[in-house]
Amino acid sequence: LHQAQRTRTGQALYDPAGDDGSERLRRTGELRQALARGDIEVHVQPQVDLRTGRIIGAEALARWRHPHDGVLLPAAFLPLAEHTGLAKPMTALVLERALAACASWWREGYRIPVSVNLSPDDLRDEELPGRVWAALHRQSLPAEALRVEITEQSLMTDPETASELLRRWRADGLSVSIDDFGTGYSSLSYLRQLEVDEVKIDQAFVADMARKNTVTIVSHTIRMAHDLKARVVAEGIEDVSTARQLAELGCDFGQGLLYGGAMPAPEFLVRLRAVPALSAEHPRLP
Ligand code: C2E
Ligand code: MG
Ligand code: MG
Ligand code: MG
Repeated sequence: LHQAQRTRTGQALYDPAGDDGSERLRRTGELRQALARGDIEVHVQPQVDLRTGRIIGAEALARWRHPHDGVLLPAAFLPLAEHTGLAKPMTALVLERALAACASWWREGYRIPVSVNLSPDDLRDEELPGRVWAALHRQSLPAEALRVEITEQSLMTDPETASELLRRWRADGLSVSIDDFGTGYSSLSYLRQLEVDEVKIDQAFVADMARKNTVTIVSHTIRMAHDLKARVVAEGIEDVSTARQLAELGCDFGQGLLYGGAMPAPEFLVRLRAVPALSAEHPRLP
């Protein structure tokens, strides 16, 4: 294993339940400093067309290069960031880095979008669309170069406001994706009111496709999303038979270890350049 992978950890740095105050303060200080110094990096995971295996996009995933604790996964620092009001500067940094990476692909003619995950606080941030447009402009990228992902769960904390905000974002030309779909307890009638461009089926369903009930749920989700004119991405695809099964159910796109995990942006660019070789070695469905 690569050194960075061996040391990376997803264990939470800060446990709100066991908080004594001082540890939280120390970790918050570290995170604030990391944000100021730019120690939060962005890795990208390929997203592919399930029929051809071709790369059609990439998701930006935050990584904290900690001075003592190695490369930390979002599970280790996201809860802290979201509890301490640091989600906003984190999103700003991730957005900047994700778009810079995306611009390097576009410069070489690979016109594929990057997806950026948002926190619940971002959803309430009225200035976010303006900052997004400014960030796109700095990288000379059009709106099609970006997708924002919001978890179904964070939409459900305030469903009315959320659907109104999504409407406004989309009116502003931004493309919106619902992440971790199926885990947020939203009702079908609520989903009908939502305007989204993409639905991402949570990896828990994808990992459970051997079960008939799960296949039924996934199949209905795909049909419902298509009826709502949204595209469907399955997350966490780890084997060829699941990829095939999802493609047969009409799922458009996928991501997962089968196609590659999150990797540094330069490594992803190397993958993009090798596209013909890549699609030959990955499952090509009839
Ligand atoms: P997510 O957006 O649903 O991202 C998918 C997660 O699944 C990623 O974990 C990814 O590395 C992992 N994954 C990808 N392929 C596979 C697979 O085949 N099998 C399995 N078991 N896992 C796979 P990661 O990078 O640890 O991120 C976890 C979550 O943290 C993300 O879930 C997202 O909700 C959040 N997150 C990541 N980056 C950011 C960010 O910049 N801002 C915000 N607000 N949230 C972020
Ligand atoms: Mg996501
Ligand atoms: Mg997800
Ligand atoms: Mg997730």
